[in-house]
Amino acid sequence: MINNMKENECCGCTACINICPVKCLGEYSNELGFSYPIMNNKEDCIECKLCEKVCPTLKEIKTKSEPINSLCSYAKNNDIKSASTSGGIFTLLASKILDEGGYVYGAALINPTLVKHIEVNSSEELWKLQGSKYIESKLEDIFLVVKDRLQEGKKVLFSGVPCQIYGLLSFLGKDYDNLICIDLLCYGVPSPKVWSKYLNFINKENKNIKYVNFRDKTYGWKNYSLKVVFEDGSQYLKEKNKDLFLSTYSKGGYIKSYCYRCKMKGFPKKSDITLGDFWEVDRVDSDFNDDKGMSAVFINSAKGQNLYNEIINETNYLEITAERLDEISPRIGAPSKLHKNRDIIIKEIDNMPIDVILKKYAMPTRVDKVKNIIRISLRKIGVWDGLNKILEDKKARRNINEK
Ligand SMILES: Cc1cc2nc3c(=O)[nH]c(=O)nc-3n(C[C@H](O)[C@H](O)[C@H](O)COP(=O)(O)OP(=O)(O)OC[C@H]3O[C@@H](n4cnc5c(N)ncnc54)[C@H](O)[C@@H]3O)c2cc1C
Ligand code: SF4
Ligand code: SF4
Ligand code: SF4
Repeated sequence: MINNMKENECCGCTACINICPVKCLGEYSNELGFSYPIMNNKEDCIECKLCEKVCPTLKEIKTKSEPINSLCSYAKNNDIKSASTSGGIFTLLASKILDEGGYVYGAALINPTLVKHIEVNSSEELWKLQGSKYIESKLEDIFLVVKDRLQEGKKVLFSGVPCQIYGLLSFLGKDYDNLICIDLLCYGVPSPKVWSKYLNFINKENKNIKYVNFRDKTYGWKNYSLKVVFEDGSQYLKEKNKDLFLSTYSKGGYIKSYCYRCKMKGFPKKSDITLGDFWEVDRVDSDFNDDKGMSAVFINSAKGQNLYNEIINETNYLEITAERLDEISPRIGAPSKLHKNRDIIIKEIDNMPIDVILKKYAMPTRVDKVKNIIRISLRKIGVWDGLNKILEDKKARRNINEK
C-alpha cells in the first residue's frame, strides 16, 4: 500500500485515493498547504496494491521525444485573448467541446485562497476555468466524476498540469475515444499557504475581494502583474519583478517538492495537446507579437490534431519546426529551479510576516544582480540558452541526489 511515500516522491494526483476499493486512503495538507494521500483506516486495507499500480511517480516516464506539431498561436477574438493567460487557445478548444454538449474540467478559483478542479458544461461558466491560478488546484473526487461522464458516453475535455493528466489516465486505466486531455507547460505549483499569507499581507484591512488575477496584462503579457481588486473599488497591481509572491515563485521559492524532480512535464506527453506561453515569439517573428498574449501549442496526438483543426480558423498562428523549437527554447520540460533559500523560507513561514521572509531571503543580492547582468549579456550574444541548459541539468541532477 502507498502509505509511506515521501512528499518529494508524490505529486498529489489523487489517483491512489480514488482507486482504493475500500476507501481507506484520505487526503492531508502539509505545512505549505499541499495535498498528499494518507492512510485513514489501515484495518480496512485489503492489500490489493491498486494504489501502487496507479501511482504515476512509481512508473517509468520517458522524457525524450517530440510533439507531432508545434505552433505559436493566439485567438483572433481579443476578448478571449485578454481574459486568458497566454493566447486564449484553451478557451477556443473548450468551447468546441461545450458546443457539442460535452463537459470541460479545469481549475477554478472558488475563493481568493482556494483553487479546485470543477466541471463546466455551459459556455456561460467557462470563464471560471480561464487564466492561470498560481496555487495547487485541489482535485478531490473529480476523477470519479470524469469517469462517470465518460461511461455515459459524453465528450470530456480534462485540463490541468501534467501530473494531473498522468494521474487521471492512470486512474482510468483504459483509453476512451470521448476523452481529450490538455496539459500545460509547467514550472510547478506554488504553495496555497504562502499565497494565503501573502494575500493577508496585501489585504491588511481585510477588505472583501472581488477578484484575483495572477497574470494580469495591464503592463503587457510579458511583463505580467498580480492584480487583486477589492469590492470597495480599490486594487493592488504590481508587475512580476516587483511583486514578492510572483518574483519568488519564478525563482522556485515555494513550489511542491516533487516539482523539482518532475519528469511528467517533459515530452513525450500523455496529453493530446499541451499549452504554454510562447515567450520566445520575438525570436520567431517580432511582428507577430502584440504583447497581448501568445500561446505555445504542442499537438501530441491525432485526437489533439482533430480538435485543433476545428479551431484553427479562429486563430492566427505560425508553425514551428522541432529543430527551430529546440534552438530557441531548449529548456522546455526541464526540472524547475530549487531556490537556494527554500528551506529557510518554509521554516520561517509561521514565525515571521511573509513580506519580511520574502524580502530577507528571496530578493536578489548584489551577487545575483551581477549574475543577472552577465546572463542578459550572454543572451544578447546568443550563448546563454545552451550554457544555461548544461548548468541547470547539472544542478537538477545534484538536487535529486541530495533529496
Ligand atoms: C501553475 C502553472 C504553472 C505554469 N507554468 C508555465 C511555464 O513554466 N511555462 C509556460 O509556458 N506556461 C506555463 N503555464 C501555462 C500558462 O500559464 C497558461 O496556462 C497556458 O499557456 C494556457 O493559456 P491559455 O491562454 O490557452 O488559457 P488560459 O485560459 O489562460 O488557461 C486556462 C487553463 O489553465 C488551467 N489552470 C489554471 N490554473 C491551474 C492550476 N493551478 N492547476 C492546474 N491547471 C490550471 C485551467 O484548468 C485551464 O486548462 C503554467 C500554468 C500554471 C497554472
Ligand atoms: S492496498 Fe488496496 S485497499 Fe489498501 S490502500 Fe491500497 S488500494 Fe486501498
Ligand atoms: S498516486 Fe498520486 S497522490 Fe497517490 S502517491 Fe502516487 S503520486 Fe501521490
Ligand atoms: S512540475 Fe510536475 S509535479 Fe509539479 S505541478 Fe507541474 S506537472 Fe505537477
